[in-house]
Amino acid sequence: MPSISTKAFATQSATSPLGPFSIQRREPTPSDVAIDILYCGVCHSDIHFARNEWGMTTYPVVPGHEILGRVTKVGNKVKKFKTGDLAAVGCLVDSCRTCDHCKKNLEQFCLNTPTFTYSGQDKHSGGVTYGGYSENIVVDEAFVLKAPSNLNPAAAAPLLCAGITTYSPLRHWKVGKGQKVGVVGLGGLGHMGVKFAHAFGAHTVLFTTSPSKIADGKRLGADEVIISKNEDEMKKHAGSFDFILDTVSADHDINALLSMLKLDGTLVLVGAPPTPLAVNAMGLFFPRKHLAGSLIGGLKETQEMLDFCGKHNVVCDIEIIKMQQINEAYERMLKSDVKYRFVIDMASLKS
Ligand code: NAP
Ligand code: ZN
Ligand code: ZN
Repeated sequence: MPSISTKAFATQSATSPLGPFSIQRREPTPSDVAIDILYCGVCHSDIHFARNEWGMTTYPVVPGHEILGRVTKVGNKVKKFKTGDLAAVGCLVDSCRTCDHCKKNLEQFCLNTPTFTYSGQDKHSGGVTYGGYSENIVVDEAFVLKAPSNLNPAAAAPLLCAGITTYSPLRHWKVGKGQKVGVVGLGGLGHMGVKFAHAFGAHTVLFTTSPSKIADGKRLGADEVIISKNEDEMKKHAGSFDFILDTVSADHDINALLSMLKLDGTLVLVGAPPTPLAVNAMGLFFPRKHLAGSLIGGLKETQEMLDFCGKHNVVCDIEIIKMQQINEAYERMLKSDVKYRFVIDMASLKS
């Protein structure tokens, strides 16, 4: 099969830095869209994967699943896209499309394992999938999304993971007016959680460990900000939340967060710390509480989220970096030092 030689950035092991790497993309099949990547967001999952913190990485890994670019070629059966269109790809590039979950537009929960954008099993090559830290990507049109043309493309790229991962649970649990809603952690996901909860009309409260983020939290849409390490501040809000979205990437005290919920309140985990969190069962009993999880979103909901963002002018707050700055960017993210998503300008990969 002919293929396209493509520049990328990869890491070869859990302890190596990322560096230049060459990959092959397939020539578009009749249902494929070839995309020249303009911008790719940097998700904390990229770090977990690059360093094999979840124990599921296949090396070499080319991370990146917040992809926005321009269509350069389409297969002859493609209907939704034409050359020159803006197009986006998130965490999924395929799924079985026939199981119960796929039929319900929940491809992220495909019972036959969804094909993740990187470190997944590539059905075409038989090898692994390579993500967005690369010049281009070739994806079946069913897994390519339309990016709103009125949004800054660099600031829209992280909507493909940070956006949908926070939008989906807020919609699923019907967060809105009359509710007190917490978002834990002001990073890539958290800052979008604050924006969406505010846009949906909830009384939005940010929990942060970083006092330096109080003003930004309010600017982004939080009605109140709680410094989660301050016990007195936490006590004042105990038992008062309808819903809390936890985006924290490292070990932390979720029992303290559970104590913030009121009767039948729900704490949803989207952050995925590499080590298991310790849950005190007693903290869930009184008064009755729910602890749940959520994973990105299906294709239909991701398009709905992008359209919502286009209509309401919602984008991410970003810091643009060059591909060559990625290792430094990872170190800054690990120190919670990013405002609030790094986005790679892929033109830097060509230079
Ligand atoms: P990020 O930008 O690095 O933000 C994480 C935030 O968590 C930090 O900014 C910090 O906020 C807070 N934090 C970090 N360490 C902490 C600690 N030890 N104790 C308390 N708070 C801490 O990461 P992200 O890209 O938003 O990703 C967050 C997590 O979600 C990652 O684990 C990622 O893998 C996961 N994720 C899950 C899904 C899904 O579908 N479920 C999708 C994407 C990402 P403050 O400074 O405000 O405290
Ligand atoms: Zn992600
Ligand atoms: Zn399926």
